[in-house]
Amino acid sequence: MAGRAKVSTKNAADKPSDPKEPVRPLDWRDILNEEAAWHDYGDFSEWFRQIAPGLNIPNTTQFEQFRSSLDFIREQASCIYFGLEPATGALNAKLNLISLEIDLAATAETRLPSLLAVAKNDDDILERLAGALIVGFAQFVADYQKGGPGLCRCEGVFRDARLSEEHLSESEKRYRREIALLEEKRLLEDPLIQRCADFFVGRSKARFCSDACRFMTFQISKQLKEPGYLAEKQRRYRTKRKDSLG
Ligand SMILES: [Zn+2]
Repeated sequence: MAGRAKVSTKNAADKPSDPKEPVRPLDWRDILNEEAAWHDYGDFSEWFRQIAPGLNIPNTTQFEQFRSSLDFIREQASCIYFGLEPATGALNAKLNLISLEIDLAATAETRLPSLLAVAKNDDDILERLAGALIVGFAQFVADYQKGGPGLCRCEGVFRDARLSEEHLSESEKRYRREIALLEEKRLLEDPLIQRCADFFVGRSKARFCSDACRFMTFQISKQLKEPGYLAEKQRRYRTKRKDSLG
């Protein structure tokens, strides 16, 4: 869920409770979902420090390049989501330039996959990761085109005062039009309220990425439909407290 406190709690939630159980390395979908919560390089570096402690934090140029690879993946993911043809030619052109290798040492004690692209600069972990994510995503696209699972997106909404209208790309507006609450309350173009950006692969019965996202959406929906709702809830809480104290 993108409205979380900067660094995702999703990864923590993914971790099995048994410490002996292996933790699944992050894939293209996880990282796309994480990226949705990065407003700037600072958010990214905080996230990177958590998932890859001990590795040098990539610099801003490396970060920007990585982001443009993620933009490409996101754009193709949108095509699939809306039932349009993904740009297979452009994807193939990228695939043709990627060679992969297993590098356990480079990613030890991190949540990064150990299957990485070979990069000109061995130290550029993001370039190596981007190549691997494109290959993983291409596998998903290839399966999808053969009738495999597509993508679903969380139907949650959250408030984020740090966003501006420029974050609402045309495709984002299209995603927003699917949320009845935003349409009803004329919030389609309001940058202060966002649709959660989390994707799931496959047909999921769940409409929300997490319980927290579902709860937040419920609160917002209630508040928009009954503007006095939160004030009333607080008033009731205070009265109850006074009663129990008195
Ligand atoms: Zn969500």
